[in-house]
Amino acid sequence: MNTAVCGLAGAIINIFRQINRIDRGEQDKFNLWELGLDTIGAAGIGYLTAGVPDGLEPSDDNPNHRGPCHSVALGTLLGIVALKSYDTTLPEKAKDALAIGALSYNLHLLSDAQTPKGLPLTGIKLK
Ligand SMILES: [Zn+2]
Repeated sequence: MNTAVCGLAGAIINIFRQINRIDRGEQDKFNLWELGLDTIGAAGIGYLTAGVPDGLEPSDDNPNHRGPCHSVALGTLLGIVALKSYDTTLPEKAKDALAIGALSYNLHLLSDAQTPKGLPLTGIKLK
């Protein structure tokens, strides 16, 4: 699912970017090749980052394995970092890659949140 959703998100971002460039006179016509590359790139980022939370916190058959890397707090933080990157001087494609990566990570968390164990708020256990 992450691959398809991220590919779609990449396509939508690219369409808005191209419309903006055409409106500003920086580009004369719609570039389908660029749209295709951004769609495939975003799908690839989605595919590669979908398993990161479980890579960081493998279940190893332990149903209570979800810690900070599977937390609502980290998902929120990643979203904020991705959004705030748009206020920086990073290249546009880097900002988009960050946003797509954060989207994919959060899609994983959203999927895990629908299981009986849900997600921890912070995943930090105080003893
Ligand atoms: Zn997981």
